[in-house]
Amino acid sequence: MQIQLPEKVGKIIKCLTDAGFEAYAVGGCVRDTLLGRTPGDWDITTSAKPYQVKELFRRTIDTGIEHGTVTVMLDKEGFEVTTYRIDGEYEDARHPKNVVYTASLLEDLKRRDFTINAMAYNETEGLIDAFDGIGDLKKGIIRCVGNPMHRFGEDALRMLRAVRFAAQLGFSIEEETRQAILELAPNLSKISAERIQVELVKLLTSAHPEEMRTVYDTGISKVILPEFDAMMKEEQHNPHHCYTVGEHTIHALCNVEADKILRLTMLFHDIAKPACKTVDEKGICHYYGHPAKGAEMAKKIFRRLKFDCDTMEQVCRLITWHDDNPPLKEAAVRRAIHRVGKEQYPGLFAVKRADILAQSDYHREEKLSYVDNYEKMYEDIIAKKQCLTLKELAVTGKDLIEAGMKPGKQIGDTLNRLLELVLEEPDKNTKEYLMSYTLKNLFI
Ligand code: ATP
Ligand code: MG
Repeated sequence: MQIQLPEKVGKIIKCLTDAGFEAYAVGGCVRDTLLGRTPGDWDITTSAKPYQVKELFRRTIDTGIEHGTVTVMLDKEGFEVTTYRIDGEYEDARHPKNVVYTASLLEDLKRRDFTINAMAYNETEGLIDAFDGIGDLKKGIIRCVGNPMHRFGEDALRMLRAVRFAAQLGFSIEEETRQAILELAPNLSKISAERIQVELVKLLTSAHPEEMRTVYDTGISKVILPEFDAMMKEEQHNPHHCYTVGEHTIHALCNVEADKILRLTMLFHDIAKPACKTVDEKGICHYYGHPAKGAEMAKKIFRRLKFDCDTMEQVCRLITWHDDNPPLKEAAVRRAIHRVGKEQYPGLFAVKRADILAQSDYHREEKLSYVDNYEKMYEDIIAKKQCLTLKELAVTGKDLIEAGMKPGKQIGDTLNRLLELVLEEPDKNTKEYLMSYTLKNLFI
């Protein structure tokens, strides 16, 4: 089996081996190359201790030196070089108490999570595959290195990683590994929000976000995202729908491109439906107010999972307005763009289409053609560079102050009034007109 190593990776390995150490490309990069996928990054494992790695290369960064990882910089590119290690005893399903270096590659490979992630390669030794990672790559299965109960007992995050790799690679989880997840999923409660967030986002932005079903079936979501379980259990008796809220959500995820903001929006767009449900006298379910309430619930989830503010805000806006359907008149569309926020477009259209395609086919053509027309009007408005925000208004707070208005609330109120006027009639966005309008009508 031959792998074409990138030139710089080959160089680093050669430099280490010339100095008498062992060194291999390892983990994800070997797996991805064997699958014909482009690896995200190339990790190197070596028998050299971190201080020895640092002596051999001119520029290094102590990225994770306490775990044996040094980043070697070649030109502007960084490569993580990690010393062979055995993880010491694990404390509470999370962190090894200490890291112990070892002289044995095999020991290092043994501590890795899955067989497909436990292969190493260099040009002289070829592929080192002690756990039949190749066999599992061919079969398309995710299998623990060693006993799954033991391995998930050491680090509970591996259970979510198993589903994440299944989603990225289109693999299934080997039966014994899956059984162990069913049993040990509650241990995920001990894992930090940051680590869960990383894996969840990788799963959601993968080729198979429908693996959220496995997250639910194995009991993982019950621990990390109980709101998702509530959706999976929520039947929707309504002509627009043919699935539970959860199944609708999964279909919606699959109908939108693999973008972090869009996938998170689809995941949470109907999160408040279980909480907002009412049933009318005909037995039809309604979910009044679920978009706004959904944004509120999503915000709580984002905080709990320690997401950054920017992601949270973008997604929450899209959730708030996912069901907003302005009449298709120019002024109404301009007002919609203003209330939703210009930055949320054209994403909002992708959200709307994904949502519709995950509903029953009742009125589907009309719903889709509405979105098409909405989008056309949006594009037309943008092409005409019409004013849609305070920033684009021909008059600023400074202009008002110069004209004698007192700094304070009146300034903001006046600007908003002027924006309303301009959203209605875009031709009026000139300084001359707006100032004279203000002097006539808005000065107190
Ligand atoms: P990606 O493409 O997402 O980077 P990857 O396989 O490189 O995939 P990483 O999370 O970057 O995944 O981890 C690098 C390697 O380290 C893995 O391939 C695996 O061998 C090992 N590894 C990472 N996390 C764990 C863990 N929690 N338990 C055991 N081994 C792990
Ligand atoms: Mg990696």
